[in-house]
Amino acid sequence: MSDYEFVLSTGERVPVVITTRRGLRNITLRPKTRPSREIHISKPWLTPTAAALRFLEQKRRWCERIFNNAPQKVILRSGDEIEFLGRRVMLRHDPARRSNEFVVHDDVTATLIVGGGADMFERRVRDFIRAQFLIAVKQMVRGAPRELWPRRITIRDTSSRWGSCSSSGTMSFSWRLAFAPTDVMRYVVMHELAHQVHMDHSPAFWQTVSQLYGFGVERARYWLNKHGAELHKYF
Ligand SMILES: [Zn+2]
Repeated sequence: MSDYEFVLSTGERVPVVITTRRGLRNITLRPKTRPSREIHISKPWLTPTAAALRFLEQKRRWCERIFNNAPQKVILRSGDEIEFLGRRVMLRHDPARRSNEFVVHDDVTATLIVGGGADMFERRVRDFIRAQFLIAVKQMVRGAPRELWPRRITIRDTSSRWGSCSSSGTMSFSWRLAFAPTDVMRYVVMHELAHQVHMDHSPAFWQTVSQLYGFGVERARYWLNKHGAELHKYF
């Protein structure tokens, strides 16, 4: 529990956790955005708390920027509806079940019934989406010429890169692309596959991307630039 709060210009109240440490020479400030949004301050033994809070106020702009760049997570609950992999999915919790059930209604809607305890609800939804994402990536890859298939596909949760490929033949994708339009996700997959032919971003590379993806590469890139950060709003 924290005794202090730091109020952002957006009105959000961020808990401040102050700890005292022997041997520490300076006040250190750590704004944390995950798993929960908190500011951690360590202060030397003899430094008064008021001085630590004053220091925090001096660093306000820096703190504000960090919290603004990491938008607040949306907590998912039973009854919420989210979109992933091209479907609008209703989430429901049924603690009497041990496993999940995915009920597909039509091409664009489904219900995910999540089993297990309430404390595991979000984790189970996340794991389900991750697993479905990997299946969808593999399907997209299989639609491309066989000589471009990677040796291995892994999923990651990086905020800086949507996809990457290594010289050893492993391709990695951020599973958060599951929340993007499927065409945008397909663009990232085709982009990485095109790197099997060209390791650079030369005009020849982009030509290969267009051959694999079809018309609209620019539109997909634009979408990612503009909306990429929104793919991190859950979990
Ligand atoms: Zn690239």
